[in-house]
Amino acid sequence: MRYLLLVLLVLASQAMAQVPESGRWQELRFPAEEVEQQAESQYIEQTVSLAAVGRLDRDKVLLLRVKGIADGLVRAASALRPAAAEWSWEVHVTDDPAVEAESQAGGKLLVGSLFVERLRLNDGELAVLLAHEIAHIVAEHERETLSEALLDSRRDLPLDVVLERLASDVPLQFRLSKLAAIQEREADQLGMLIAYRAGWPCAAMLTFYSKLAADSPALTVLASHPSGATRLSLAKGMSRLLGD
Ligand SMILES: [Zn+2]
Repeated sequence: MRYLLLVLLVLASQAMAQVPESGRWQELRFPAEEVEQQAESQYIEQTVSLAAVGRLDRDKVLLLRVKGIADGLVRAASALRPAAAEWSWEVHVTDDPAVEAESQAGGKLLVGSLFVERLRLNDGELAVLLAHEIAHIVAEHERETLSEALLDSRRDLPLDVVLERLASDVPLQFRLSKLAAIQEREADQLGMLIAYRAGWPCAAMLTFYSKLAADSPALTVLASHPSGATRLSLAKGMSRLLGD
């Protein structure tokens, strides 16, 4: 009886979840609300400092395009994970050259206008880019990474301590790079499915990943994204699977 109680306690402290579609199991040790709150304050801080230097939402045409496309993608994503319909989705664009496209837990998106311009993305290709970021959120990759960072510590650490370690601890970053590669591939696959279900053609996946492969800089040891060529061949496989 005591043993059973112990097993139940251990199971309760380690929330297990499954990624939609891929079915991959994740161990999630931080509560979703805590991760979302932290992501929201980080997003506010980031957008406020971009606005302060005049680099937020200057391209109104792109902002409208991105918002319109994201709406349809979020609807398709909510069919895969109903909780997504309740998140407070927010989209901004920036002409900060360091930003390509980013996402944060709970529905926060940031798109780099210079990146969209450089790749000359049409609406379908922009949808594939956004769907990749939305897939990261839907699959709770940020929460999973933070939880995974705890695995080598004997006790539970507060979220802000884990975030500090993630930013500065190179051996930890190296250990997490394997998980990051799995998450990127998953976001590519899940993202393409979301884009397809939102009505975008498979041709957009192929042209988006072709443009990305032509644009990709050389890989570094810690690079989390697979090479452009690998992502393009995944897109070809997905497009055959979805039969368009
Ligand atoms: Zn990604």
